[in-house]
Amino acid sequence: MAVTIEEARKAVLEHAHMLDAEEVYLDDALGRALADDASAPNDVPPFAASAMDGFAIRASDTDRGSVRLQLVGEAKAGSGAGVRVEHGTAVRISTGAPIPEGADAVVHQELTSTDGATVVVERQIALGYHVRPAGEDIRAGDLVVRAGSLLGPAELGVLASMNIPRPRVVRRPRVAIAGTGDELTEPGAPLRPGAIRDSNGPALGGAVHRAGGELATRVRVGDDLEATVAVLGAALRDVDMLITTGGVSVGPHDHVRPALDRLGYREVFAGVKLKPGRPTTFAVGEDGTLVFALPGNPASALMAFRLFVVPALDAMLGRGGESHPLHAVTDEDLPGALGRTTVVRCRTTLQDDGWHVRPTRSQESHILTSMLGVDALALVPGDRELIAAGEPVEIELVG
Ligand code: AMP
Ligand code: MG
Repeated sequence: MAVTIEEARKAVLEHAHMLDAEEVYLDDALGRALADDASAPNDVPPFAASAMDGFAIRASDTDRGSVRLQLVGEAKAGSGAGVRVEHGTAVRISTGAPIPEGADAVVHQELTSTDGATVVVERQIALGYHVRPAGEDIRAGDLVVRAGSLLGPAELGVLASMNIPRPRVVRRPRVAIAGTGDELTEPGAPLRPGAIRDSNGPALGGAVHRAGGELATRVRVGDDLEATVAVLGAALRDVDMLITTGGVSVGPHDHVRPALDRLGYREVFAGVKLKPGRPTTFAVGEDGTLVFALPGNPASALMAFRLFVVPALDAMLGRGGESHPLHAVTDEDLPGALGRTTVVRCRTTLQDDGWHVRPTRSQESHILTSMLGVDALALVPGDRELIAAGEPVEIELVG
């Protein structure tokens, strides 16, 4: 019995668990998922600093407007002034330098003139002017980056500012990909009559990488049960997940399900009420290894990957994995299929009234080029024969 998308995803999330964590240097942490909440051990900035090149002064010295002050020293970024600012005095200061003791404002250079020994401030300066208080950006103890966050350039910078040089990140899920089919040929190799290029392998390899996984191995096997048992069995060693494509329908040469059964993997579901992607099958091993058996048609495989494998990888990375429905207006009619969710490859545009989607050229599951530029999947529910142009439709973004 085929299950609904929702049932299938729920079942996937019941079996996909967060992996263990490892420490990595910030320079190696781009794209990794943070394992623990990152709180600030210290204020950022750690001290009150100047926001401008100019002079640190006492604001009250300028209460009557233009004033001449004695220059008593200099505060540079990276070192303190070593002098106090008393009434009637000023310290030359650079952007980022600590505010000297006694000073409570900075007047930027453009509002001053100096002869080297004194500085004339041309107008009244407010208390705290051009002073960046300690902790203005981050207060000690603040929770700044949450567990599960993917570390991008901004997160790396923030972690560095908080003195976290080796954040703990979740281990990348190790994923094996196995393409099945006598017809499959590696790109670059000569094409026998009847053969086609294995396009799922590279496409899914990229999808795994983009979703935060690590491609452990990529293999191919012909349409033979014994060979399938052997190749899938070998691919399953030392991985957290196996993704197969093809060989999972009802044809006489479809051996993936029997092979998984022989290898001791328990089917959680076999078939989803989905168009395309109906044969999508999910099984688990005794050690918790997940197996996604995706359809062979390239578009179906990538769509099933987005709908079921991405949530599993998210959960393994400690990122939840639940889907958060988004909606967009469709610019074209979207045909549905009663009893099944129809998944439509779309491109999005942002218009005055929000996001819109438009299906790509063909929706046939073997038309590879219909996946080019796809950044969203529109989901037409099984109780709708049509979502008409102008109506809202639920979408899932494709990263
Ligand atoms: P199957 O699910 O094995 O019946 O395959 C469905 C269709 O997808 C067939 O036309 C296959 O040739 C094609 N197909 C299967 N695997 C791949 C692959 N790795 N790359 C490209 N096309 C594939
Ligand atoms: Mg096949």
